[in-house]
Amino acid sequence: MFMNVNELTTPVQEAMDIVLASVKPLDYEIVSIIDAYNRVLYQDIVSNIMIPSADDSAMDGYAVIAEDTYGASSDSPVTLQVVGEVRSGGPVHIGGVSQGKAVRIMTGAVIPKGANSVIEVEYTEEDNGYVRIFQEAEKYKNYRIAGESIKKGDKILRKGTRLSSADIGILASLNHNTVNVYRQATVSIISTGDELVDLGNETQNGQIRDANAYVIYSEVKKLNAVPRYLGITKDTLHDVQDVFFKALESDVVISTGGVSKGKYDFVKKAYGELGIETLFENVNVKPGKPCTFGTKGNRLVFGLPGNPVSALTSFIQFVRPALLRLMGAVNVYQPVVNAYLEEDIKMKSGRVHLLRGQFTVRNNDFYVATTGNQKSSILSSMSKANCLIMVPEHLASIKAGEKVPIQLINHS
Ligand code: AMP
Ligand code: MG
Repeated sequence: MFMNVNELTTPVQEAMDIVLASVKPLDYEIVSIIDAYNRVLYQDIVSNIMIPSADDSAMDGYAVIAEDTYGASSDSPVTLQVVGEVRSGGPVHIGGVSQGKAVRIMTGAVIPKGANSVIEVEYTEEDNGYVRIFQEAEKYKNYRIAGESIKKGDKILRKGTRLSSADIGILASLNHNTVNVYRQATVSIISTGDELVDLGNETQNGQIRDANAYVIYSEVKKLNAVPRYLGITKDTLHDVQDVFFKALESDVVISTGGVSKGKYDFVKKAYGELGIETLFENVNVKPGKPCTFGTKGNRLVFGLPGNPVSALTSFIQFVRPALLRLMGAVNVYQPVVNAYLEEDIKMKSGRVHLLRGQFTVRNNDFYVATTGNQKSSILSSMSKANCLIMVPEHLASIKAGEKVPIQLINHS
């Protein structure tokens, strides 16, 4: 039988590969480190200093020679002469520690020469220039060695890292006021459908609220890209073409609806008219089969399905990794772990199924159950979901107790 090319469905992994192969990461900009959280590093960060810069103490106590304290106990303390004090940020101790001597030391202060350990203040008692020590000090205990955190020349952060708060702390420690990060992608969001009504306007029978725009807007913000909502577009080729033309000013275009085979689905036609090259238009997945992807120059154009759950699951599978890669991230996939299924499930084989699930962790094991009705129009079962159960295409049923892969969707 002759098969129209439009009927072809692309396997999920292949679709993913096509999307990522189309991504050319953006250029960089310089931002203050206080604005750099969750941005993607454009440069390797190499340390030109040592942290700590000198051997220093991890505790308040006394810098000692460990061997001097051997045999010390609560019944028979060892007594050492206190020959000075060093404070964090204060001057280093000139004389150092020799046999039978100790220097009072604060956390972060430089360890005096000769000392090889710090005994915590709680195991000591000082009076009249002498300190009694009630416990043996271990060699190099509470002793931070110069460079143990960061060595000079260490490539401490790599290009492509999404900056965490700890990473920002490292940048601060290395005296970086600013940092080069990938530019944020601009993303135009389009809702298509004659039945759609935006917030605040009255609805009549058969009309529905535009939910997708707000779902997609939130997802785009979550990834630290810049969303721009272009509003609801009527189901005419002219309107659709018009809004896509405007949307192409952005790095990425995301529309929902209008990609099926209905008489009034014009998104794919608009691609043709605007010179957007279509790279796939159906994916072998449920929900989310009608899902179109194309490019125009470096711009990425996603035509997601209209049903709110399909739109969101398609976003998670294809748009999220693309946006992250566009903004330079190396790691773009959500984690997938195995979980014990808590109920029997049945589906039609032949397509990958992404079932809305809620996982729980008990005794360090993952368990997962579906969140209820799996129709792609039912957003409430997506709202309860914290994962997607990924059922491979050859399966038609899975029994409770078997292990299934789940994709963690709230993991940033
Ligand atoms: P379509 O792919 O345009 O035929 O849309 C499929 C289904 O999704 C229809 O029932 C639409 O009413 C619904 N839908 C489309 N766009 C939206 C939207 N922005 N918000 C909520 N539901 C939508
Ligand atoms: Mg529609």
